[in-house]
Amino acid sequence: MDEGLRRQYLDAMGIESWVPRRSGGNPLTVNERQAAACPPDVKPLQPEASPSPPLWLEEVPPPTEEWVPLEMPPTEPAPEADIASLDWPALAQRVSCCTACELHAGRRQAVFGVGNRSANLMVIGEAPGAEEDRQGEPFVGRAGQLLNAMLLAIGLQRAQVYIANILKCRPPGNRDPRPEEALRCEPYLRRQIALVQPRVILAVGRIAAQNLLKSQEAVGKMRGRPFRFGEIPVVVSYHPAYLLRSPDQKVRAWQDLQQVAALLKD
Ligand code: SF4
Repeated sequence: MDEGLRRQYLDAMGIESWVPRRSGGNPLTVNERQAAACPPDVKPLQPEASPSPPLWLEEVPPPTEEWVPLEMPPTEPAPEADIASLDWPALAQRVSCCTACELHAGRRQAVFGVGNRSANLMVIGEAPGAEEDRQGEPFVGRAGQLLNAMLLAIGLQRAQVYIANILKCRPPGNRDPRPEEALRCEPYLRRQIALVQPRVILAVGRIAAQNLLKSQEAVGKMRGRPFRFGEIPVVVSYHPAYLLRSPDQKVRAWQDLQQVAALLKD
């Protein structure tokens, strides 16, 4: 209908009509009216084109019957389960041939352990040093002599106790054992403890105490406190090599030895 005729018709019926106009007087289009109603920073909604799938999705071939799950290698028995059943000769043989960590490459020989295999007291140290590596026995040299004197002070000959280390092979340059090395070597010490079945364990030095008791504490904070390895009481004390460098700490080491003696009497 002609716009002029439509307006005359509506006027005759008494109906007012309103049409927005441009400044020049022409009516606004639908889009112009919608844009005028929006805040300046809001655009009128436009219909969205449906997104096309990403290329990588289209490139994945559909599964076929040729797709088969990867075969997992058979689970090997944990080495510790094997070591835990060894007797003394087999255990000593296993340690002497062990290549479970990189320390085997630099050793002259593995240092297994020494002493009474039915001892009431087991002394556990850190790792072989140069002299131990040469002689194949733990706690020799000056530190070993001091340990012997400490044991005698509570009435024990060296041959009456069993002595072993956390590590059986010498770390180069006498550096601290690395956690992975201690972990690899742990089954051997566990088996030694299980075979000896000592009534008391004396852990000398930070490395021995921390690895045996799975702790990060300093020796000074651990000594004097009651610990257990399984059911076995553990006394923590200073390493004889440290006592040689810090003789003022011998008084504390003597207190620890008295604690050992008291436990052995129980
Ligand atoms: S340190 Fe222990 S785990 Fe490492 S090679 Fe020697 S015996 Fe084996």
